[in-house]
Amino acid sequence: MDVLEKTLAMLEKYPLCDNCLGRQFALLGYGLENSRRGESLKLTLTLQASAQASEKNIQGVKTLKVLAANGFSQTAQAMLRHLKKRIPKTDVESCFLCEDRFQQIDSLIQKVLEKTQAYEFSTFLVGVEVPVAVAEREDEFKASFNVGYGESIKHEFGRVLGKKVEAETGKTADYRKPDLMIIVNPFTEHVKLQVNPLFVAGRYRKLVRDIPQSKWFCSNCRGRGCSQCGGTGLLYPESVEELASKPLLEAAQGEKTSFHASGREDIDARMLGSGRPFVVEVSKPKKRFLDLKALQETINAGAKDKVEVSRLRFTQRDVVRKLKKAENAQKEYRALVQFEHEVSDADLQPLEQTLTGTTIQQQTPIRVMHRRADLTRERYIYKLKVKKISPKEALLEVRCQGGLYVKELVSGDEGRTVPSVAELLKNPAKIIKLDVLKVIMEDQ
Ligand SMILES: [Zn+2]
Ligand SMILES: [Zn+2]
Repeated sequence: MDVLEKTLAMLEKYPLCDNCLGRQFALLGYGLENSRRGESLKLTLTLQASAQASEKNIQGVKTLKVLAANGFSQTAQAMLRHLKKRIPKTDVESCFLCEDRFQQIDSLIQKVLEKTQAYEFSTFLVGVEVPVAVAEREDEFKASFNVGYGESIKHEFGRVLGKKVEAETGKTADYRKPDLMIIVNPFTEHVKLQVNPLFVAGRYRKLVRDIPQSKWFCSNCRGRGCSQCGGTGLLYPESVEELASKPLLEAAQGEKTSFHASGREDIDARMLGSGRPFVVEVSKPKKRFLDLKALQETINAGAKDKVEVSRLRFTQRDVVRKLKKAENAQKEYRALVQFEHEVSDADLQPLEQTLTGTTIQQQTPIRVMHRRADLTRERYIYKLKVKKISPKEALLEVRCQGGLYVKELVSGDEGRTVPSVAELLKNPAKIIKLDVLKVIMEDQ
């Protein structure tokens, strides 16, 4: 059956709007909307039927009547009037497949615009839901006419709505990482929004000890708030996470934040140098076009002399994964070590050679065993330098693979870390001050 014969067969049986007729031939012709396909098919059939009618071929008037009724064709109706033929009265009022929803698309767009007004976004994606009965009806229709060039009603709605939203808002449709997912049901006119998170990356320095990286909940009430924690639910009143995230949450008018960082320093260690990479994820932000330079100043003013953030910039979700992967990135530490017995330069000197270029066997430290699995890991030391500063104190600088527990590298952790400074010198030792000097990682 050729295209026109098939078109006529469809229209003889069902009323179809231009979109729904054209959609059955969607893969024919390129750069053309289905509505124009449908309109052209109906028009071509009308011309053919007119020619037949003028040659007194009875098929001509028959076809014109089909087009006038089930094809909603005004040209066919005018043609019949001209030929002084009866225009068929029908009980058909709307398209069999879409129930005329394509014709009501502008009111749907208004609903979308109202709903999205509350959010700042640059990219969006329209997702379409249609009732099961609608999808099944079209499947049966396609099967009965052996449609081989068609597309689905869902697909067409998605494309048509997407183009209209683009035209109305000036925003871009993006299939991969849209700021906003607009989920529309053209049949119920229900519009849902899925607001994707906003990701802000940066680096932080922690200038003081005794501020944890992330919120540390009160162990007594586990965050609910009790008399021990003064109702805050927190063991430590402040954290890097809160100091950096709160101003972002407020500016973005989001629902909540998650803080992601590349590893963490001990609570009593400072984080110096150029800082540690982090990403703040803001859920359901209403504002996205933030002035990050101003926000950086706000954060740093609020966290003055405690925490400092830098290089704030917008980023994407995949950077969070890269941050986690980079936990093993090289780190540089500086530690003040205290020995039980006096040490000499001659004692300390060989340490540099012994430990530089050495792989350390480290069993999960006793102090973190309550929250980490007990296993032995190997971590490499790239460089180690040590300098005596008093009879029982030395300054240690070490560059190592991330994930090495430096405190245990010094103390030996009752034989769980091998080799260790204490073991090599046969002199019990511990770190009394620790700073992270560098997290060696490219900014994403
Ligand atoms: Zn239709
Ligand atoms: Zn509490």
